[in-house]
Amino acid sequence: MNKIVKQQILDKIKEYDKIFLFRHIRNDGDCVGSTKGLKRILELTFPEKKIYLIDDDHAEYLEFLGPEDEAVEDNEYTDALGIVIDTASEKRISNKKYTLCKELIKIDHHIPLENYGDIMWVEENRSSACEMIADFYATFSDELKIDKEAATYIYTGMVTDSGRFKYEGVNGETLRCAATLLDQGIDTETLYAHLYLESFGYLKFKAEIYRRMQITENGVAYIFIDKAMQNEFNLTLEQASACVGTLDSIRDCISWMVFIENSDAENSIRVRLRSRFVAINPIAEKYNGGGHAMASGATVYSWEEAEQLLRDADAHVKEYKETHEGWL
Ligand code: AMP
Repeated sequence: MNKIVKQQILDKIKEYDKIFLFRHIRNDGDCVGSTKGLKRILELTFPEKKIYLIDDDHAEYLEFLGPEDEAVEDNEYTDALGIVIDTASEKRISNKKYTLCKELIKIDHHIPLENYGDIMWVEENRSSACEMIADFYATFSDELKIDKEAATYIYTGMVTDSGRFKYEGVNGETLRCAATLLDQGIDTETLYAHLYLESFGYLKFKAEIYRRMQITENGVAYIFIDKAMQNEFNLTLEQASACVGTLDSIRDCISWMVFIENSDAENSIRVRLRSRFVAINPIAEKYNGGGHAMASGATVYSWEEAEQLLRDADAHVKEYKETHEGWL
């Protein structure tokens, strides 16, 4: 699929001696895996090119994948190609120096909120951006080189963004891409240990979530994680935010969300919205956010606004339940 745009991207890569890779703020496994994986593929294939991945944003749970490149002078960007992966809108690009690049390519699997870049390869039905990078490799495997390290980065994003190959969007193509990566000899036991083992203290926090979680009238499960709760369990914002999956298996609750109080001057609250059967992105988009149909992010600026979002989500779920069958 999309062979023409993939060919354009490969041709553009060949044209440039210097390439910068970019990804979204609040790193996750998919944006880290896809950028590190493509960087490694390009370095193996084109050893004479300089490939940079520079980003101040770091996710603690992905540190095992290793560090990024040191910052470089601004003038280094000006004759380079930029490739932005897994980022729907420009405001979410983490390293703002992307504007300095001579040309820009967007590779993404989010619902497109805006167009940017000189070449765009967007497939919103892909389970991850990493799947797209694996597909890019597979399409040109007679020209591109891969190894276990590159495959491990890319597989990491495929696993995390698809909920271990569980979410909507996973299809035969996903597993064929994953198979290509596994053929490189990925140490999946160590990878899963890095990604999914939890500390004793964190499990205690999860127990508290189960104690405090609430449900709206029509089945939206939610929890408010204010600063007091974060302090009580000695959690970073990233750790507090990671618990969204805890609410994902409640029968009849076809949407679930966590509200995490940020530590910024605006008293903003990060909202992580998830759902099955019903698309939840319209609610995220109404509250300064976006993402995927079943996994979106938003921001609200008070607990009252959080309650308002919940009322909207509840009405949305009610409407869905009244007009659809087969959900559970
Ligand atoms: P999160 O719960 O923050 O992991 O977000 C779920 C998905 O929605 C991820 O793929 C994010 O990249 C995306 N997302 C989160 N916040 C926003 C936003 N404000 N605008 C667009 N996409 C977002």
